[in-house]
Amino acid sequence: MQQLLHPTPLPPPRQPPAPVVIWNLIRRCNQTCKHCYAISADTDFANELSFTEVCRILDELKALRVPALILSGGEPLLRDDILAIAARAKALGIYTALSSNGTLINEDNIAAIAAIGFDYLGISIDGIGKTHDQFRRMAGAYDASMHAIRLCRDHGIKVGLRYTMTQDNFAELPQLLDLLDSEGIDKFYFSHLNYAGRGNKNRKDDVFFNTTREAMDLLFSRALTDLQAGKKSEFVTGNNDADGVYLLHWVKRHYPQQADHIHRYLQRWGGNSSGVNIANIDNLGHLHPDTMWWNYDLGSLRERRFADIWQDRRDPLMNGLKMQPRPVEGRCKSCIHLDICNGNTRVRAMQLTGNPWAEDPGCYLTDTEIGLHAT
Ligand code: SF4
Repeated sequence: MQQLLHPTPLPPPRQPPAPVVIWNLIRRCNQTCKHCYAISADTDFANELSFTEVCRILDELKALRVPALILSGGEPLLRDDILAIAARAKALGIYTALSSNGTLINEDNIAAIAAIGFDYLGISIDGIGKTHDQFRRMAGAYDASMHAIRLCRDHGIKVGLRYTMTQDNFAELPQLLDLLDSEGIDKFYFSHLNYAGRGNKNRKDDVFFNTTREAMDLLFSRALTDLQAGKKSEFVTGNNDADGVYLLHWVKRHYPQQADHIHRYLQRWGGNSSGVNIANIDNLGHLHPDTMWWNYDLGSLRERRFADIWQDRRDPLMNGLKMQPRPVEGRCKSCIHLDICNGNTRVRAMQLTGNPWAEDPGCYLTDTEIGLHAT
């Protein structure tokens, strides 16, 4: 949106030295959300990484020049040593964020959390009031999480709302976006549900896909309005790289004179980067191409160094993820916007067909929008 209103020359291609690492340090959680990818529970899981092991891996990440670390769980604040781990990461000079459900942030620990200097703290909110409590299966969760957001804000921590959309909470998206203004929140992270739809034939009539398009339209217009009003709010979407292509079509409709410029920026962004610029470490120290690939183990950081596993292209999935273009099939292969989207979320293709290179069944764009025959 900034490029729409204040275009600047295209910077050189992005070539981060190492991936952003999302680290699920603990699987235990005090909530049992319907959409949890980590299948957490309020019980201790055996054999999780010790503080000493975490510190050794942190040193490896630093040596590799990992640019950012997102500490997550389960609920990361259930680890007694979470702040010590975060402090260590910060001392190594790594951008450090925390993803929490917020219910354990209170007056007793907010000063210690603020003292870490987290670069960002994301708190999950799935709806207003009871909607959120029902998603989280915890009475009072909404009030506790909102309290945490206010505490973070008042202690100078950059804080964001993390929202995962489903059919059951879509109606509350406008109200959630309003919270940015009314509560002085810096950022809104919109996560698509890992939804696979019913395949290509029904795309135009698929209720969920149409809901997704409405949600994107709402986010785009809110981001633009905020920017025009001089606000510094940030909007991020995740878990569906077709968003970039959808944005391009939105720009073509609303700002056709800027479409070529935005097109080049989206190509530079490059779409999905699981296994390339995104990595995930689970609570036991196993490495994965991203958080959605927990059933695909690249190797244990207790046995091999991060760099050795990450750069090892003998693994067929990692080899394919690192290929340019990726060896995608079906409509992704024929898509004229593959360079913007990069074939989207391979794990959805894997789950639905058993083939990680099949077309992404979660693509909500019509055939016309991806340059195939008219629908
Ligand atoms: S068809 Fe595939 S590559 Fe094209 S936008 Fe959809 S998911 Fe992305």
